[in-house]
Amino acid sequence: MIGQGTTEGSIYRLAPESESGKVEYLVKDQDGGVHGKLDPPLDLGQIREFGRENGRPLDRVSILQSSLNCTHCDNDIAERFSATSSGDLLCWNCAQDRIGEEDARGVTHTTDPTKAILSTSALHHKNLCNYVINVATGCTHGCKFCYVPSTPNIKMRGDMLKSHAGVDDGQAEWGSYLLYRDDLPDRLAQKLDRKRTWEQTKDGRGVVMISSGTDCYQDRRAAQITRGCVIELVKHEKPVRILTRSPAVVRDIDVFKAANGLVTVGSSIPCLDDEKVRSIEPGAPAPSARLDALEEISNAGVPVYVSMSPTYPTQDREDLRDLLTKFKERLDPDVVFHEPINPRGGNFQMTVEAAREAGQEELADELDKLRDRDHWVEYSKKQLTAVRDIGDDLDLPIHLWPDKEFIKHAGDDAEFFRREREKMESPEDYPKLPSSA
Ligand code: SF4
Ligand SMILES: [Zn+2]
Repeated sequence: MIGQGTTEGSIYRLAPESESGKVEYLVKDQDGGVHGKLDPPLDLGQIREFGRENGRPLDRVSILQSSLNCTHCDNDIAERFSATSSGDLLCWNCAQDRIGEEDARGVTHTTDPTKAILSTSALHHKNLCNYVINVATGCTHGCKFCYVPSTPNIKMRGDMLKSHAGVDDGQAEWGSYLLYRDDLPDRLAQKLDRKRTWEQTKDGRGVVMISSGTDCYQDRRAAQITRGCVIELVKHEKPVRILTRSPAVVRDIDVFKAANGLVTVGSSIPCLDDEKVRSIEPGAPAPSARLDALEEISNAGVPVYVSMSPTYPTQDREDLRDLLTKFKERLDPDVVFHEPINPRGGNFQMTVEAAREAGQEELADELDKLRDRDHWVEYSKKQLTAVRDIGDDLDLPIHLWPDKEFIKHAGDDAEFFRREREKMESPEDYPKLPSSA
């Protein structure tokens, strides 16, 4: 096992080896112990997997601390790096010169030039976190209702998306491009080593959420970046919240367990009708598979939560009870966050059309009716209240996320929903507080 006997935060250096006559790379730990070999050309995916397959859960092979060269121009990998779709390690100059490559699904993959590493976030208002890390720009799940393409991260970066990935319209083409931040784990490690202050509000509790603007386990490359980031955060004793729709998250159960309560894992599960969900989340894995994955993680003793969001107008009280009962029985989550679907935003029309095109006529009709504000307010009130009541019945901790605009029109119940929205305390027993951390 690599890393055995080394100090905490073991880092493995890849050094050239010439005794066999061919170029090889040795994976070494800080004490010089050799733990295996890698053959050229260096493949970033393989390097990442080496740590996973041969290390302890919190081990990571550092690229920036190794003396590596770009597979294209042979220059040193000094400060930043990325890779081609097939994994060839690239220096930053070569990475910038490349235009995206399209895969068989028509998704363009390339490097994200952003400098962002760890960003403070307003999501503490939802009791989620104080910081976010996004491992990529874009998301191949392509959920039709997704708010991310209408945020500045996409809207203000039209020129970059055009030049790097050939994207003409970041919103309309959402789901068809993915720009990875391959060097995030290495840069995050440097940043955390230097960081002297840490934001920690009562409602955000210093938590780092991965990811808010993409799915951090949507494919192997994204998952490898995520694993590296989680390892660094845990080594620096920072609490982490994972949110994903991808069952592939189970690949990192070893890391979550080793984190000893510093990592919570959640998934968005609005309902368990796979066909209905697929109609408006066309690229995402089925919700039944998400539930299975979360159950496996929960059974491993890792804290889990559910984002029951966004629920649909076709779900009545009994449907909501069935769903919440399954959460209770199979996951026993620390909390279920709940939010009804919101018809505002430029992409709602796309959501309705997608449901109709997929043959989900009833869903399309009911979504369409939500454009009427009063109807939407009634539907939201009914679902939020039902989820709260059923949660009480089942002894299941619930945290509602009522929309601000909804509250304005919620009449006599406005005060209750306002309090729910603004509450500083989450019902979640996570993290075990960092003064302890
Ligand atoms: S998984 Fe999340 S980020 Fe990705 S498209 Fe769906 S809602 Fe947006
Ligand atoms: Zn290069």
